[in-house]
Amino acid sequence: MSRSTWFEKAKSFTKSMLSRGLGLIGHSRRASPEIKAIREVSCNGQEERFPPCEHRQPSQNHPGSYICGACGCGDRKAVLIGGRVPSYSKLDYPYLSCPIYMPGFSNYVPSGQDEESNERKVHLELKYGVERLNAIARGQKRGFLIESWRQKVRKIFTR
Ligand code: SF4
Repeated sequence: MSRSTWFEKAKSFTKSMLSRGLGLIGHSRRASPEIKAIREVSCNGQEERFPPCEHRQPSQNHPGSYICGACGCGDRKAVLIGGRVPSYSKLDYPYLSCPIYMPGFSNYVPSGQDEESNERKVHLELKYGVERLNAIARGQKRGFLIESWRQKVRKIFTR
């Protein structure tokens, strides 16, 4: 599987926004702590034992923080993935895609089915297990479908 296209990125961004829900900021839906922790390791690595993703870049607008240089989301507070991040950060979105389909993200693709060789992904698959990671990605997709239907029904009844 090759990297996500511009269209896929735009579609994923819309899905992430919808998955958060339409409530007040304090009532936004969040990814579970387990999912967020896996995303954290995918993006930021883990201390000295495991390096950060090659696409992670220091934020120019928010010193001390990091953004994903491959997502095309720009350099805004809302898209920070590491360092000093807001209380609801990008990695909190219930549905979230990664341009290289890494573990913990909604569009995760196991290493054997991915065109690009990625030693970091293999390492995380050994750590968490491919089945578990697949189940996590499926759960995020299912959660997104349920939430989008819930929002459609809510719109119908609030007209
Ligand atoms: S490419 Fe994926 S794993 Fe790497 S920084 Fe971006 S979102 Fe994180």
